Amino acid sequence: MKNAKAIKSKKIILFNQKQMCCGCEACVSACTKQAIAMESDDYGFLYPTIDKELCIFCGICKKVCAFQNVFEGNEPKVCYVACNKNEKQLGISSSGGAFSAIATDFLENGGVVFGATLDKESNNKTDGERELVPKHIAIHELKDMVKLQGSKYVQSHIGDTYKEVKNYLLAGRRVLFSGTPCQIAGLKAFLHKKYEDLLTVDIICHGVPNADFFKTYLSLLEKEMGGKIIDFEFRDKTKGWKSMIGKATVKMKWGGVKTKTVYGDESSYYNLFLKGLILRESCYECKYACRNRPADITIGDYWGIEHEHSEILSDTKGPYSVEKGISCIIVNTADGIKWIQKNRIRLHLVESTFEKIGHKNGNLYHPCTKPQTWKNLMDIYSKEGYIGVDKYFYKKMGMQIYFKKIKNCIPRNLKNAIKNYVKSS
Ligand SMILES: Cc1cc2nc3c(=O)[nH]c(=O)nc-3n(C[C@H](O)[C@H](O)[C@H](O)COP(=O)(O)OP(=O)(O)OC[C@H]3O[C@@H](n4cnc5c(N)ncnc54)[C@H](O)[C@@H]3O)c2cc1C
Repeated sequence: MKNAKAIKSKKIILFNQKQMCCGCEACVSACTKQAIAMESDDYGFLYPTIDKELCIFCGICKKVCAFQNVFEGNEPKVCYVACNKNEKQLGISSSGGAFSAIATDFLENGGVVFGATLDKESNNKTDGERELVPKHIAIHELKDMVKLQGSKYVQSHIGDTYKEVKNYLLAGRRVLFSGTPCQIAGLKAFLHKKYEDLLTVDIICHGVPNADFFKTYLSLLEKEMGGKIIDFEFRDKTKGWKSMIGKATVKMKWGGVKTKTVYGDESSYYNLFLKGLILRESCYECKYACRNRPADITIGDYWGIEHEHSEILSDTKGPYSVEKGISCIIVNTADGIKWIQKNRIRLHLVESTFEKIGHKNGNLYHPCTKPQTWKNLMDIYSKEGYIGVDKYFYKKMGMQIYFKKIKNCIPRNLKNAIKNYVKSS
């Protein structure tokens, strides 16, 4: 009786304010009693909640919280402009294919690669329909790498992958784990010690919207198209690396398959993401949006390459092309340096600096600023769901949306010709 009373009065508080939890799931993974689960708040973001009946108050969940405990990141050691030498891999990557070059090395040498995918999960409906769920998975073969390639601009669910990483490492396998910097910090806090066979890669991260926004956004697109979305690419490079264009593949009711180009400036989800208006609260306070990174290697888009390294673009026959995509690589640890030295064969590399990479990539210095409209948008979501957010976007855009739609229909060479004419007259 005394014991039960004592337990009732005990309490573990994982965080005091929402911005103190990045949703990396290290606490969920570390709990030996499976007492913690991720649950959605009114705004659709997932937060850990503790089942008091199962909790033994050991406090491990608090200890592994990398976001709240002292975080000592690495200092950048060497930086590069990078481009994958394999044209096929480059074509389906969002930037210059740095990730697939690194992953290929692991997969060809018996390693395991972890990263984010849009998994086709059954939605429990009897018709066997599947929906695209952003989550981390492990792959073992090169043929599966396409699942991890390409940016998914939505928070990816970690699930059991931290535990799987540990099991593979204990079994002596080489592991590459890629993700947002908070996911890398979460993994490292969970593992609690250094493993020789683990290489980590974080992406320069702008912040993440939640999976529920994305799911409802896709269902709105499905209504518009009259079919089921079976694949979604956030960065389709057919109109060039810099065009923020996505592609939805839709299975139509009559059986055929259609694709729809999703323009970043006229899609509510994409536009609100790019403007940083619908991100997780912790993203606006991100402690990894700085030069001290948790991973061995940081990768991102080399925005501003024309100004920072115009010399490599002047050779039009050279490997670096703003049409095909260019990566930046920041090597943060001795392990990262070792990897780059061993694998130069897979990448075209030119040395650069952190400052040059950071000129047009503000998230290397600071998180996105939380906009005034954030709360307004979240309140709309909690009352009306993402449909309300979508309506708000179109109302705000007003006539602009029609101009954007017309602009996006004009072929690129005609657009350039008009620009040149206006400039010369
Ligand atoms: C939410 C988000 C915000 C980003 N913000 C910026 C930015 O501000 N500036 C910038 O330069 N680059 C940003 N990037 C990174 C950029 O879009 C590319 O993903 C990166 O340059 C890698 O490109 P790649 O060609 O090497 O490989 P790709 O094959 O294009 O990328 C695959 C890699 O991205 C990881 N990944 C994809 N989606 C997610 C996700 N949802 N969560 C965790 N990991 C994911 C995969 O695990 C894999 O490691 C962002 C990416 C994401 C997912």
